[in-house]
Amino acid sequence: MVDRIIEDEWSAFRQTWHPDEVPESTLAELVLAEPDRHDWRIVDAAYDRLTCEECGERLSRGPVGCSACDLAHGFRYAAIETDRPGAQPGNEHAVRVNISVVRRPRVTSESELLARRLVLPLLLIGSLPTTEQAQRVSTLIKKAPAAKRARLAEQAVADWIGQAQASGPG
Ligand SMILES: [Zn+2]
Repeated sequence: MVDRIIEDEWSAFRQTWHPDEVPESTLAELVLAEPDRHDWRIVDAAYDRLTCEECGERLSRGPVGCSACDLAHGFRYAAIETDRPGAQPGNEHAVRVNISVVRRPRVTSESELLARRLVLPLLLIGSLPTTEQAQRVSTLIKKAPAAKRARLAEQAVADWIGQAQASGPG
C-alpha cells in the first residue's frame, strides 16, 4: 500500500515526460538534481530507481552506516510537501516522514516501526495525532510485553481513527 502511494504519483509524472524517449533512470536523475522542485512522492520514487554505488541497494534505503544512502535520505526532505485538501495542516509532512521510516526498516527500531506503521492509516485520512496521543501509543508500545504489543497499539490507533472520523473536519 505504501509503495503504491509513491508509484501512482511517479507513473502520472512519467507520462508527462515522453516516456518512450527518456529512460526512467535519466528522469530519476533529473528529479534528484532538483528535489526541491518536486513532490516528495516523486523524489522518493526517483530514489527507488537508482542503485547506491556504495552498498548496491536502492539509493537512500541501504543499511545503517552507508554514507551515500544517509546523504540521499537527507536530501529527500528538500522535496515539496503539500497538504491535501481537507487535511490538517502539517499532515502531509507527517505522512511523508512515516512512509520514509516504514520504507527503511533496517535503520529503525522494531517498536518505532510498529508505531509508524500503525499511525499511517490515521494520517492517510488527513488527521494528525495530538502530541498526547502520540506519546500514549509510544509508551504503550514500549511497556507492553512483546506478544501483546501489536494488538494493544492497533487498538489504540483504531480508537483514534474512530474519534477522528466522529469529530473530523468533514
Ligand atoms: Zn547505500
